[in-house]
Amino acid sequence: MAARNFDMIVIGAGPGGYVAAIRGAQLGLSVAVVEREHLGGICLNWGCIPTKAMLRSAEVFHLMHRAKEFGLNADGIGYDLDAVVKRSRGVAKQLASGVGHLLKKNKVTVVMGAASLPARGKVAVRTDAGTEEMSAPAIVLATGARARELPGLEPDGKRVWNYKHALNPPHMPKKLLVIGSGAIGIEFASFFNTLGAETTVVEVMERILPVEDAEISAFAKKQFEKQGMTIREKATVKKLDRGADKVTAHVEQGGKIETMEVDTVISAVGIVGNVEGLGLEALGVKIDRTHVVTDEYCRTGVEGLYAIGDVAGAPWLAHKASHEGVMVAELVAGGHPHPIRPGSIAGCTYCHPQVASVGLTEARAKEKGFEIRVGRFPFIGNGKAIALGEPEGLVKTVFDAKTGELLGAHMVGAEVTELIQGYVVGRALETTEAELMETVFPHPTLSEMMHESVLDAWGRAIHF
Ligand SMILES: Cc1cc2nc3c(=O)[nH]c(=O)nc-3n(C[C@H](O)[C@H](O)[C@H](O)COP(=O)(O)OP(=O)(O)OC[C@H]3O[C@@H](n4cnc5c(N)ncnc54)[C@H](O)[C@@H]3O)c2cc1C
Repeated sequence: MAARNFDMIVIGAGPGGYVAAIRGAQLGLSVAVVEREHLGGICLNWGCIPTKAMLRSAEVFHLMHRAKEFGLNADGIGYDLDAVVKRSRGVAKQLASGVGHLLKKNKVTVVMGAASLPARGKVAVRTDAGTEEMSAPAIVLATGARARELPGLEPDGKRVWNYKHALNPPHMPKKLLVIGSGAIGIEFASFFNTLGAETTVVEVMERILPVEDAEISAFAKKQFEKQGMTIREKATVKKLDRGADKVTAHVEQGGKIETMEVDTVISAVGIVGNVEGLGLEALGVKIDRTHVVTDEYCRTGVEGLYAIGDVAGAPWLAHKASHEGVMVAELVAGGHPHPIRPGSIAGCTYCHPQVASVGLTEARAKEKGFEIRVGRFPFIGNGKAIALGEPEGLVKTVFDAKTGELLGAHMVGAEVTELIQGYVVGRALETTEAELMETVFPHPTLSEMMHESVLDAWGRAIHF
């Protein structure tokens, strides 16, 4: 078969790849996307979306237990884990099939198979029917990432799980150990703890949610402990002894090793980029540990070859992948897009309470030599938070004292993953405290706390 030619070939149909393909097609490019497993990638099938569906079940369960506080009756509260998982899988399936429709609507050619790059500008796809050759002057690598496995802590799907096992669990854990307290680890800890698993989180770094502002991590930790979670920081799981129905974990903390018996372990120790088997080394693509090295326009240094999303490194977030996809498609179509600004990409963790942030933490702003002003506003001072029955939380803002630039915003509490976008827009518009103070926030909303936090940085908070 003669090689099919396109203007742009995208490898991987996750939120990076399918978005790049659609934007390219919108701009008049002939585009093919190659996917070896499932449209929608990790995000829609095994990441962002199914976790949020499961966490929503946990949230409703938690609220049902609080029914009396709201003047309601809810007796015989329980759950059916299979039904919770079934709903989550259904939500994932619905969205993944939506991606298929969008690609079709935009006339993107979808090729199901595993791609590799035999030469510059060429793609070979192994399909059920054999190998197909394709070519394009622009090729976008969007192959994503998978769970990192540490020696001795490898998931087996029975008693030791990675995120895929945890999203389709073979049993409900009674005693759960979560290794790693990044967003993925904490979300699963929050889910299973809410459903009643006795949950311990072990984190090797100084504190849980290590990329967040220290004050927010400490606040979240207190809340998790109130909910019955055990948090062990500066601790390392050295070894797991696996039995038929239990696992003995050897945990080192403060120079001492203790053992701990659980029935389930979730390993959430990071991710590694899918860089293997593509022929990248032969093309001269630079790889740093497990991700492709790119410049601010996602160029790999090999002419016409771009890398976006998780395979191109941190932050490992779907919206970063999609934004890079749009930027690269515009570049390929001859446009002049702005490069991505990592400091304006928000991070959200959908545990209970939620955590969200954008920009510099207080410590990082100081390290960078900024003279700063910090504002804080607690949920307890906000009418909507009290009305919702969600009085625990904090909104913290960090400003450059000299210019008033909003350097960072950090939140913990109900719905903060929805609120953070207000500050993201502010940063994109290069706002200062003056515009934020002038903005009228609707009442009663949780967003009023965003205003009050800004006012507080200048000693002007009204409600606290
Ligand atoms: C449990 C979990 C929860 C998460 N929650 C969130 C969240 O709430 N918010 C958020 O922003 N991010 C979240 N993430 C991260 C998010 O899923 C990723 O950042 C995002 O999926 C990255 O998109 P991508 O397009 O780079 O890669 P992926 O989504 O990984 O897609 C890559 C695709 O490429 C395909 N592929 C790989 N190699 C080949 C090949 N050789 N040929 C053909 N196809 C190939 C793969 O099959 C895959 O479909 C979560 C991740 C996990 C694991």
